Amino acid sequence: MPATAANAMQLEGARGSGWWLPSWASRRIAAGVTDRETPPALLIQQLPPSTQSVSAEQVHGAGIAIIEQAAHAERVIPGCDALMTSMAGVALLIRTADCLPIFFAEPARGIIGLAHAGWRGLTQHLPARMVGAFRHAYQVPAEALEVAIGPAIRACCYDVGLEFESRFPGFVQPEEGRRRCDLIGAAVAQLQQAGVRASRIVDVERCTACEPSQWFSLRREGPATGRLTSLIALRP
Ligand SMILES: [Zn+2]
Repeated sequence: MPATAANAMQLEGARGSGWWLPSWASRRIAAGVTDRETPPALLIQQLPPSTQSVSAEQVHGAGIAIIEQAAHAERVIPGCDALMTSMAGVALLIRTADCLPIFFAEPARGIIGLAHAGWRGLTQHLPARMVGAFRHAYQVPAEALEVAIGPAIRACCYDVGLEFESRFPGFVQPEEGRRRCDLIGAAVAQLQQAGVRASRIVDVERCTACEPSQWFSLRREGPATGRLTSLIALRP
C-alpha cells in the first residue's frame, strides 16, 4: 500500500540553506537534503565541527556498508549504495537526482542508515535489505525502525517502458498512451513487507521532476544536471 497523505512530512528549511526532516531532529538525529542552491558543505556546517563524512560510491546495486570505525571516515566506500552506523559524529551521505534517498533510524538506541535506490536498487530489494541489515548487524527489529523517503521522481513524471510491468507489478499505471511507474509506492511496499510499520514510514511527497527550480532531475535535465546530497547523522 503506498504511503498516504497522513504520513507525509514537510521538509523544513529554506532555499539555499537545505531542508531537514523536523520530527527527527528533536531526537539526536539530523537528517536533511540539499536543494539546487545549497552546497553540501552548508548542511555539514550545521553539524558539530568534529563530524566526519562518509559517502557511498553508488553503483546502482544493493550493497550496504556498516561504518563502525573512525578510520572509515572522510571517505567514499566503494561498491555500495547504502550506509549504516551507530557512531555519533559520522555523517552518512548519498547523492541523487530522481533516485530515492531513503533515511532509516532506530531513534531509541541511535542507529541510522541511508540508502540510494533507483529502479535498479529497488529491483534488488535494497529497502528490504536495509531492514535485514539493521536486524543482523544491530539486532534492531523492523518494528523499531523509522523510515523517510526524500525528494525523488514520482509517478507523475516517471514514464517507463513495458519492461517495468514485470519489474514492478502493481506499480505501473497505463494512462493515455503513457505508462507511469510509482517507485515510491514500490519502496513503501518493500518496507512494509519487511516488517516496517506503515505509520513509521514518511514520504515527503516532493517530486524532483515537477519542481525544477528547487531540485535536480536527471530525467528532466539530462546527465549533466547536479545532484542533491542527502545526509543523516547522530549528534554526539
Ligand atoms: Zn512529478
